[in-house]
Amino acid sequence: MSSGALPVIVVGGGITGLSAAWELQQRGLPYVLLEAGDRLGGKVQTEHTDDGFLVEHAADAFILGKPYAAQLAREVGLEPDIIHPRDDTKRLYFLKGGRLLDFPQNMKMFVPLDDQSFLDSGVLSPEGARRFLDEVNVPPKAPGDEDESLAAFITRRFGEEALNFIVPLAAGIYVANPFELSMKAAFPQFLALEQKYGSVIRGSRATVRAPGPVFASFRGGMDALAQAIAARLTGEVRLNTQVQQVQADGVVLKGGQHLRGSGVIVTTPSWSAAPMFSQNFGRAAALIGELKANGSVAVVLAYRADQFPGDMHLHGLQVDASEGIHLKAVTVHSAKLHGRAPEGHVLLRVFFKDLDPGFALEEARREVERLFGAHGEPLWHICADWRGRNPAYQVGHLDHLERIRAALPAHIQVAGASYTGVGLPDCVNAGRSAAQVLTEQLSVA
Ligand SMILES: Cc1cc2nc3c(=O)[nH]c(=O)nc-3n(C[C@H](O)[C@H](O)[C@H](O)COP(=O)(O)OP(=O)(O)OC[C@H]3O[C@@H](n4cnc5c(N)ncnc54)[C@H](O)[C@@H]3O)c2cc1C
Repeated sequence: MSSGALPVIVVGGGITGLSAAWELQQRGLPYVLLEAGDRLGGKVQTEHTDDGFLVEHAADAFILGKPYAAQLAREVGLEPDIIHPRDDTKRLYFLKGGRLLDFPQNMKMFVPLDDQSFLDSGVLSPEGARRFLDEVNVPPKAPGDEDESLAAFITRRFGEEALNFIVPLAAGIYVANPFELSMKAAFPQFLALEQKYGSVIRGSRATVRAPGPVFASFRGGMDALAQAIAARLTGEVRLNTQVQQVQADGVVLKGGQHLRGSGVIVTTPSWSAAPMFSQNFGRAAALIGELKANGSVAVVLAYRADQFPGDMHLHGLQVDASEGIHLKAVTVHSAKLHGRAPEGHVLLRVFFKDLDPGFALEEARREVERLFGAHGEPLWHICADWRGRNPAYQVGHLDHLERIRAALPAHIQVAGASYTGVGLPDCVNAGRSAAQVLTEQLSVA
């Protein structure tokens, strides 16, 4: 297929689609970006309330260990707006047995960098903690192609009790069932440490990075990234434009209009991508349709600081998986990042898995009262309903992805959170990589 003057069609204006369009622009390829909704950014949604709060409906920060999002932010002139979670409020609790324990110091994600503070923290029983630390003596699995679940990996290496501690930390971003979540797709870095160092703990301790921020966000909220990319796109961007079918030579829009393109990059989540392939790429549609989703609800609550008896200068809390409550985590947004709440106020994000939003709101208020002693009504609340909208990477996900790619011609790509990582850096990388692959395809065709 010749690239001619036809544009590459990018379907979806979330971070993946915007990154794909940006990369095509850098490479000098014409493109048109089609977004079904009336705004760009997709799941990245920042709301500025009239009373001076900054509310994130989904992502509130991104990891710096994968450099792609920070790199793109620099390219679109956002470097001066990059901020980091506050060090002075870095306290985190772990809720276990109804008690708020201090989260162990000196951790790299869930891996203790020193034994003593982990043993002292009480987040595991003394036997559970000793078994956890004995991971250094568990022989690595023979290298092979077999995928395994997060739960299988954790119990194999750290013991059964470790599951309740690690799952809220590791599976949190994937809102995942740990017995189904693919290690290869979600946490290849831990598999690599096991293979290279014979132990995740030993490997983590050998690869400690220089001190510095681990996460970043933007002064004006996460939406700033989407807006900054959008402001620098010189190609065509169409809002309120829903793609219905993908064809070998372009797409068909809702309403029947046919738009021709030299290639297509579909960046929408799997559940909206699958129907787009149904008429012309049946096998890809079926395979994409098999990808599963989990759900979550984030309840945002605003209070005056004087509604709390204690100091709310902390980042939040994680809940032990065996606690038997709906609550999964709380982020104290007003203390985690600067500029999220007016002086003298507290802004909380309270996370649940699939739960009716009305019930989640009741639960959130009850738990905030029980755990932090809040009294009186919140000033207002917002329920961000993400039920059925968190991609779930089942064991075998990467092989499944290979089958999806093989079922599509090279000038039609799928990319985004449903396939190669849900975090923003992964989405940026996915969008840009799809654009690179397509550019190479079109130049050799
Ligand atoms: C509650 C929650 C918290 C999160 N927290 C974090 C975090 O702290 N850090 C982090 O890095 N990540 C976080 N994430 C993940 C991250 O926000 C998402 O994975 C990422 O934003 C997905 O981007 P995307 O572009 O792949 O997809 P989306 O954002 O879903 O964008 C897809 C776009 O496609 C459009 N579309 C759909 N169908 C069509 C169609 N037929 N035609 C045209 N357009 C269509 C949609 O309207 C949408 O704009 C969180 C996610 C959630 C839900």
